[in-house]
Amino acid sequence: MHASGLAHYTVNMQTLVFVAAVVAGLSTLFTSLSRADFGPDNPFFHPSSLPFQAPPFDKIKDQDYQPAIEAGMAEQLEEIQAIAKNPAPPTLENTLIPWERSGQLLRRAQGTFSAVVGANSDPTLLQIRSIEAPKLAAHRDAIYLDAKLFARLEAIYQQRKSLNLDPESLRLVEYTYDEFVHAGAKLSDADKAELKKLNEELASLSNTFSTRLLAATKDGAYVTADKGALAGLTDAEINAAGEAAKGRKEEGFVIPLQNTTQQPDLVSLSNRATRETLFTNSWNRAEHGDANDTRETIAKIAQLRAQKAKLLGYPNFAAWKIEDQMAKTPEAALRFMDALVPAATSRAAGEAQDIQAVIDRQNGGFKLQPWDWEFYAEQVRKAKYDLDEEQVKPYFELNNILQNGVFYAATQLYGITFKERKDLPVYDSHMRVFEVFNAGGSSLALFYCDYFKRDNKQGGAWMNSYVDQSKLLGTKPVVVNVANFAMPAPGEPALLTSDDVRTMFHEFGHALHGMFANSQYPSLSGTSTARDFVEFPSQFNEYWATYPAVFKNYAKHYKTGAPMPAELMEKIKKADKFNKGYDITELLAAAELDMKWHTLAASAPLQNPDSFETEALQQTHLAIPYVPPRYRSSYFAHIWGSGYSAGYYAYLWTQMLADDAFQWFEDHGGLTRANGDRLREMILSRGNTEELEQLYVAWRGAKPSIEPMLKYRGLAPGGSK
Ligand SMILES: [Zn+2]
Repeated sequence: MHASGLAHYTVNMQTLVFVAAVVAGLSTLFTSLSRADFGPDNPFFHPSSLPFQAPPFDKIKDQDYQPAIEAGMAEQLEEIQAIAKNPAPPTLENTLIPWERSGQLLRRAQGTFSAVVGANSDPTLLQIRSIEAPKLAAHRDAIYLDAKLFARLEAIYQQRKSLNLDPESLRLVEYTYDEFVHAGAKLSDADKAELKKLNEELASLSNTFSTRLLAATKDGAYVTADKGALAGLTDAEINAAGEAAKGRKEEGFVIPLQNTTQQPDLVSLSNRATRETLFTNSWNRAEHGDANDTRETIAKIAQLRAQKAKLLGYPNFAAWKIEDQMAKTPEAALRFMDALVPAATSRAAGEAQDIQAVIDRQNGGFKLQPWDWEFYAEQVRKAKYDLDEEQVKPYFELNNILQNGVFYAATQLYGITFKERKDLPVYDSHMRVFEVFNAGGSSLALFYCDYFKRDNKQGGAWMNSYVDQSKLLGTKPVVVNVANFAMPAPGEPALLTSDDVRTMFHEFGHALHGMFANSQYPSLSGTSTARDFVEFPSQFNEYWATYPAVFKNYAKHYKTGAPMPAELMEKIKKADKFNKGYDITELLAAAELDMKWHTLAASAPLQNPDSFETEALQQTHLAIPYVPPRYRSSYFAHIWGSGYSAGYYAYLWTQMLADDAFQWFEDHGGLTRANGDRLREMILSRGNTEELEQLYVAWRGAKPSIEPMLKYRGLAPGGSK
């Protein structure tokens, strides 16, 4: 999983997993709620009095979250009931405006909570999360399946063309109505009951899948008593394998499995038999016919999802799931992927030839297998690009990259400036806060950064929004970027890798999407867009990291200030396109599997996952022995255990948008204020206030094309290897 950028989904993802699991207990849940433990002493009771309503981290204690979240749900339910029971004929003013105003206490508490539980967790916070997740899911169902509320929304929806609404209000009416219908609001009472039952069963099966996969992944670890089998690993890696064994009270060495098919240590393990065993353990982890086998569960999930889609009136689950995404239909997502397959696989075939040549030169005497790929690809990389990260790092000092790279690019493009604020409270002393100003000097937003790795921080990098922008609520954006960069020793500079630099630009792209938000309504603001759109601004912003005028401005030696030598810069640029055929092919294979599983009809029989998978890969021309899918069906947690079902294509789709957008910049003079302002005006400030494809086409002047993606990722015919 591209871990970055997921956090704006955190709440929804949990919700999806637990949907309807506890719907039955709803009425008792809320009537029994006591507010005795929630009062003015709680820091979430009132909106924060700090500038921008920034979270009062100096006052918030762990025990403040749960009462605030529960009181927030109860308060929102009362607000919703008041709207639903209003005897006056439904209007925008008495229905949708109060709908948008509802739940502010919940949003205050939940916004801060979900950010902190990811970035600065402890056992208390984790326990609160597991207690509150199903309650929040039930809270959502209580709202979205409320017949009276929906009747009012539907009445407004039907009159919308004659109401003379401004475009954003019209979008709100249509979007809200669609989301209710999507959730099942139009079903008969009997069908709603059936839907809740299906949701409940699906939530339970997802939970079974996740539990089994967790155990299967643990059991799939590579175990050996023979240190020689680990040849190629560094001493530190071998020590880590020894520690892992001790942790499990086993003799010898243990290499635990990561979630993907390929395993990180396959890059360095020189013993081919070890590689084969480690790979096979990974590939078959959930297919041993034991208690951890997930195949029956996923077949059942796929079948129930198809039945759920049928109940909601769709030919298959993907059609239901993608309806509110930019792609809108599974066919559009499939057309896009099918068009990528020939270029990606032919590039991968070229890479395979390079690898086979290395094997043959070394008189290996075997044909390339998936467990050989990473090991020999690394040798090709070293020979071809001769890039050593240690050479690069002195030019990538964090503070310098932030000020003279990330901020600099944003100033060139959008005219915004940054001033550090030391007066606002933070939850960790290494965090920094900046006030962001428009070109004219008006105040725009607060930007927090929490860049260093801590044991209590989840992996990856992401953006969160503490406060969403909304003109209706009078709020300006307060956003944070979180990462896991290595903490330097005291007094030492923080030197980053090229990947880290890219991550900083990526997450700042999400931050810009949040900070430039200029919406009336909070539910349409900033990063509240579809999964297949939200990674577009972030992937696009990555381009400025290597853009010559920006790169020159920040890539300077931390001691001497000398610019990075041109040949080193050239190596970084070239290495950027390395192994892209493999990378995109394994993603495509996983994304096509996802789509095949979720385009099954409700009438289809229960599938045999192994033959289904083999056939699906053959049909999509992705049955390539040396490039297995990034996730096999039986351990594809994104689609069975979390919210990415029929959505894995979004990673590739947003790459296409980012590349296509950068092509527009290239065609129009690159890094200029005029270009930046236009993007801000037409895309980055618009959130979800317009249908996303229209938004994009209006800015681009055409539908997105895959040609720039093929070109920039080295997949075009004759593209550089
Ligand atoms: Zn992202």
